[in-house]
Amino acid sequence: MAERLQPDICVIGAGSGGLSVAAAAAAFGVSVVLIEKDKMGGECLNTGCVPSKALIAAGKRAHALADARAFGVSAGPADVDFPKVHRHVHDVIAAIAPNDSKERFNGLGVRVIAGAARFKDRNTVVVGDGIEIAARRFVIATGSSPALPPIAGLETVPYLTNETVFDLTARPEHLIVIGAGAIGLELAQAFRRLGAAVTVLEAVEPLAREDGECAAIVLDALAREGVIVRSNVAVARVEGTGSKLKVILAGDGEEAIEGSHLLIATGRRANTDGLALEQAGIARDRNGIVVDKGLKTANPRVYAIGDVAGRGQFTHLANYHAGLVIRNALFRLPVKVNADLVPRVTFTDPELAHVGLTEAEARARKLTIRLLRWPYHENDRAQAERETVGHIKVVTDGRGKILGATIVGAGAGELITTWTLAISRGLPIRALAGIIVPYPTLAEIGKRAAVTYFTPSLTNIWVRRIIALLRRFG
Ligand code: NAD
Repeated sequence: MAERLQPDICVIGAGSGGLSVAAAAAAFGVSVVLIEKDKMGGECLNTGCVPSKALIAAGKRAHALADARAFGVSAGPADVDFPKVHRHVHDVIAAIAPNDSKERFNGLGVRVIAGAARFKDRNTVVVGDGIEIAARRFVIATGSSPALPPIAGLETVPYLTNETVFDLTARPEHLIVIGAGAIGLELAQAFRRLGAAVTVLEAVEPLAREDGECAAIVLDALAREGVIVRSNVAVARVEGTGSKLKVILAGDGEEAIEGSHLLIATGRRANTDGLALEQAGIARDRNGIVVDKGLKTANPRVYAIGDVAGRGQFTHLANYHAGLVIRNALFRLPVKVNADLVPRVTFTDPELAHVGLTEAEARARKLTIRLLRWPYHENDRAQAERETVGHIKVVTDGRGKILGATIVGAGAGELITTWTLAISRGLPIRALAGIIVPYPTLAEIGKRAAVTYFTPSLTNIWVRRIIALLRRFG
């Protein structure tokens, strides 16, 4: 080997999780090597959260034009220049890219190595033929890739995934999306708003892990906008060439759906190919690298974080993991992942945001629960903005401890943070009922839901007697 490095920490993968570990470790003055075989910034920056939110933002502007008339503002139909939408998406990536760049990380004191890492033994990683890294600790943060479903003919037709869909410079005539999870539905709505016909095919129920009554509100909104979502369908095969594609559904008398583009959004698989995990005694299962509650693999020198650890695929989850690993690796503090504290948001319109336990999860744990709701249409700001679709649903235990919250409606992704804080600090619902919330804001729906916890006590005979008693004192 031409070079042998002995840093404190070696991070494999420069996506959200890996970059967070590297930046934090470097800030503490620890020597760090960061290995990346592709683009700095990984999935989130290049083919995930950032371009999808930029495309959604373009769709939102197109949709707002159509909606403006209700406000007394006239505008013509949206004129979507798709090559310019493409440029907007890539401008946004370019604006954020410097934060994740090799130059920035070199400046932080991180040694960034371009190449594919593989384990040589339990204590050593090699990159190419030239560099050997014997680190005190390793962090695998290699992310995930689109999982392709076993659909006959898929290998014979052109198809898109989140890795290629943002390269489109022409608007699809009819986009067929297979998979109605977050990726499928977010992109379905964005493309529909930008003028494409969109059909989504889902094997079971769309957004199956979300609270059913809240997911139904998202699906209703999509249907109103003309996104066709077909649930409980089985795709038998796909065929066609160029922009003449056919998806054939199984069932009595095969039904063919014709489209110009096919997007596969059927879930993810952990990126472990080429790492030679077995050389380091690291196990993986069907979800990804097997880790304990503190994110350590079967080899105690090695952690796995983010998508590759198979415990959910969110940038903020990877960042949370990164923080835990830093505490454990640098300060030897015991850490434990708490999945109940990880919020998630589907960035459709209306947004669907959740933290903690859903009603179904709380019932499955046989907890005694109370459900609190407040609708957007009872919120003055929502009326002013004509954003009256949706509601908040809060789950508490019998004593008012907040267990979970789901918000479906405008700004849900922003509003969920209050509830994440409340749950992470173990706050009772009383705390949320008592805070002063600026009027008129959408955040008032949270307070109003919290106050309903106490509504039954308004008619409680003892409360009324106490008030009557106190009245006697003047
Ligand atoms: P997903 O697992 O959330 O949804 C995939 C859907 O595809 C499921 O509903 C599944 O039933 C369906 N499916 C699978 N095989 C099928 C088939 N052969 N035919 C029809 N339907 C089929 O996966 P995703 O939407 O690809 O997202 C991947 C991950 O990324 C998820 O964990 C998601 O939460 C995360 N993500 C999050 C966000 C966000 O936070 N806003 C955005 C995008 C992705």
